[in-house]
Amino acid sequence: MLLELLERRVENLKRVGVAFSGGVDSFTVAYLCSRHAETTLYTVGFPDSHDVKAARELARVLELDWVPILLDRERLEEAVIEVLDFLEPGPRLPVEVCFEIPLYLVAKNSRERVVVAGQGSDELLLGYHRYRNGIGAEEQIRLLKELEKTVERERAMFARFGKELVLPFTDPEVVEFCLSLPLEKRADKKILRSELSRIFPDAASRKKKAAQYGSGVVKELKKISGGRLAEYVRERLLISRLLREISGPVREADPFRVLVSCVISQRSREERTEEACRRLFSRAKTPEEIVELGPEKVSELIKPAGLYREKAARIVELCKRISSGVPDTREGLMGLPGVGPKTADVVLCYGFGKPVVAVDTHVNRISKRLGLVPGDASREAVKRILEEKIPPKFRKYVNQGLVRFGREVCRPVRPRCGSCNLSDLCPKVYIGS
Ligand code: SF4
Repeated sequence: MLLELLERRVENLKRVGVAFSGGVDSFTVAYLCSRHAETTLYTVGFPDSHDVKAARELARVLELDWVPILLDRERLEEAVIEVLDFLEPGPRLPVEVCFEIPLYLVAKNSRERVVVAGQGSDELLLGYHRYRNGIGAEEQIRLLKELEKTVERERAMFARFGKELVLPFTDPEVVEFCLSLPLEKRADKKILRSELSRIFPDAASRKKKAAQYGSGVVKELKKISGGRLAEYVRERLLISRLLREISGPVREADPFRVLVSCVISQRSREERTEEACRRLFSRAKTPEEIVELGPEKVSELIKPAGLYREKAARIVELCKRISSGVPDTREGLMGLPGVGPKTADVVLCYGFGKPVVAVDTHVNRISKRLGLVPGDASREAVKRILEEKIPPKFRKYVNQGLVRFGREVCRPVRPRCGSCNLSDLCPKVYIGS
């Protein structure tokens, strides 16, 4: 009877993805979907995790296409930032964040417009160990309310990717049926196991770990955070909010132009730098053409940026050295005259698209105020720590975004904390310094 009710919810689907952890719930929905729709199974986890191993085996039993979404440290840390951004201003507890990561990655990576999952079974069929001996009416109501909130959140997560999440266990008819069952049939999903065992005895008897444990997410995050998971999640929430604040189109350009622009920008206001660059690059498009112009003509063209004579001499000298190409390593760039670590990192990031954090005065000041790095950290240490904490995918936003943020909001003097979107999370370390 339960299988029939569940099947009704999926019998009209034509092509679906199934969030498949290898437990009895997702196995059941995968089997029912496969009777009607072209079905692909998706499993998220570390390669040696419980879920990936179980799912691989059970996908073979069902003879369905199986797509593992394998995690590594970088992909996981990236997902933490994205899930926290999605959850705002909702739950931020480590367990909730970890719990949503596998489903979030299915929402992001599945190819089908409709994804089916086994969520709800634990709440209705008392899959949690603590309810093996029964559940009070009040607790049952609380559990169902929690489920409602989770379902709403997870549906919104799929909607963000233009997809629909179908949860057969939360269908009203299924809910009513499950709640009408006596405890001995509900607890530990006995009814589900018993109906499924007539078709797949082995799959029906399997035990399952919660998604955050089965996928290996919690284990890896505990390792990354040195056991301080709550602190880690709090800090990643701050980073996620910061990235939301500073992300935007990134101005990438020819490495040669980025390098020359950096020299022009030194001790110059942004609009003046832009004007000087426009004037210079309208007359010279390559290092050779700049060398041909010579220091005098270059200084005339970049005059709006100030200190034009010194800058022109350095630019011409630089261009002589890069006629065969701009080096694409930090060491190579820092071997050029007048190129320091910040300029080298700016060229690597915005000229070569490398995942590098370039630390200038704004990045240095703001990361300290936010408590992301110690107040006495050197610029090299700031770079190293930020690169440890910010996954490669997001690093390109840091320099460009913090320069703007540092001019408009977190200003060197009198930062606008009152209107800053980070205010509730920011410890405001060294404020006023
Ligand atoms: S709250 Fe204040 S100190 Fe913190 S980032 Fe915002 S402006 Fe800067």
